[in-house]
Amino acid sequence: MAPPPPEFELDSSLGDDLARVAQQLSAAGHVVALTGAGLSVESGIPPFRGPGGLWTKYGEPPMDGYRRFLEDPAAAWRERLSPRAEWALALRDTLAAAEPNAGHRALAEFERIGLLGCVITQNIDDLHAQAGSSNLLEIHGNHRLLRCLECVRRFEPDAIAIDPDDLPPRCPDCGGPVKGDTVQFGEPIPPDVLRRCYAEVERSDCMLVIGTSATVYPAADFPMEVLRRGGCVIEINPTDTDFTASATESLRGPAGALLSRLLDLSKSEAGAAA
Ligand SMILES: [Zn+2]
Repeated sequence: MAPPPPEFELDSSLGDDLARVAQQLSAAGHVVALTGAGLSVESGIPPFRGPGGLWTKYGEPPMDGYRRFLEDPAAAWRERLSPRAEWALALRDTLAAAEPNAGHRALAEFERIGLLGCVITQNIDDLHAQAGSSNLLEIHGNHRLLRCLECVRRFEPDAIAIDPDDLPPRCPDCGGPVKGDTVQFGEPIPPDVLRRCYAEVERSDCMLVIGTSATVYPAADFPMEVLRRGGCVIEINPTDTDFTASATESLRGPAGALLSRLLDLSKSEAGAAA
């Protein structure tokens, strides 16, 4: 998939909307960004479903991945170590080639200058971390990492010795079975991440919803909770979504271009206030 042109011309009618949103961001006490697959499309990662989607092209993966892991963790590990399914190979190659885009970089910079408290992402692609976001909650896990199913500790891949004759690998802390950190179909969201998400959302008076229609639990709860508590929610998506009617503001266009522009405006806003 070709990335969008980097010099995307924003619709000039967006100018007032962007200025207003930049003011809202600067005035907010605790901004949280919620991101989804749409943000990473600009890094060349296709969505799973819909035109050009990985699963549209290669067929849907098994919808009971977690149950299959629990039933036969060794077999699941063998498939992880040498994937055979076409969709799994395509996903592995796509993730390996992807790099953070202007949207990921802008969010990391928003955090660095103190205008963004936290990123909650549904993406597993590691691109927020690579861009430099540090208070990052990956509700569906991170494809690079491993996680103990008992104590939920995460591990870098090289921190766990993997013996192909003795699978699954075991947690060095508690002895629990270790699996990939990516949350599979049928697998509960790890409770530690979920708790931290709700703690961030409870503090938040302004949420950016980027590249997601936020219709799937638990992400769907987060913006609605911010609205219930009187905060504002700013949606950044290329087209209308099911969430649009609820959003306080909606910006239409590619996230990379819109967030870069918002960052510039917010910096001048902060400069003017200083
Ligand atoms: Zn453990």
